[in-house]
Amino acid sequence: MTSPAELIVTTSWDDGHRLDPRLAELLDRYRVPGTFYIAPRNIEFDPADRLPAAGIRELATRHEIGGHTLTHPRLPLIADRAAREDIRAGKIELEDMIGDAIESFCYPRGEYDERHTAMVRDCGFALARTVRRHTLNPGKPFESGTTVNAYAHRVDGLVALRMARFRPRATSRLFRHWDDLAKAWFDTFLEQGGVFHLWGHSWEVDARGDWERLERVLDYIGNRPGVRYVTNGELAGAGV
Ligand SMILES: [Zn+2]
Repeated sequence: MTSPAELIVTTSWDDGHRLDPRLAELLDRYRVPGTFYIAPRNIEFDPADRLPAAGIRELATRHEIGGHTLTHPRLPLIADRAAREDIRAGKIELEDMIGDAIESFCYPRGEYDERHTAMVRDCGFALARTVRRHTLNPGKPFESGTTVNAYAHRVDGLVALRMARFRPRATSRLFRHWDDLAKAWFDTFLEQGGVFHLWGHSWEVDARGDWERLERVLDYIGNRPGVRYVTNGELAGAGV
């Protein structure tokens, strides 16, 4: 367990898109490490949009590479044997590319049940991230939660209300802008301690024209004294 005073920041970026290196450059600028969850043969991307092996190897020199299955299937909708094989094959392909073991995993679309947590553990991963948000306590290692997604979710209304201490104008700002919500969460994190986990997708940041928003958030959360910056895998190692 994390002691209340401990301050840990981690980030993760899903899918393995050709825009991931642009996102990694921003992380580097503010000295925030990232875990890039990559499905090397993601069927949801045009092959030209996938991050090629050379790009994955380059990312691996500065950030963590994590498993995200081979093809990005919706795990609960496919047979157990196919799910197990896709999880395993994705891990092997990435390990062959980067010449190193990978230990963190992320469920495609955050969809999984207890069969898949067992498969991921049996496959040799040490941690699995979900898409659960609004927490400073990641919880169980194979159902690790996050704090803020770099994307405006309409369902954030209640959270925005709470974070803005029920002041209407502040609430509407947090409701509309994920970067303001991220900063409000970061302020809470500085008061309470725990794990601040920001995650997203480079292709989504790009599609929404959110690069400047993301940079503002990284500028806000990076380079803070007393804060420990870790990859998702190092979270598992830290026993939190
Ligand atoms: Zn994904």
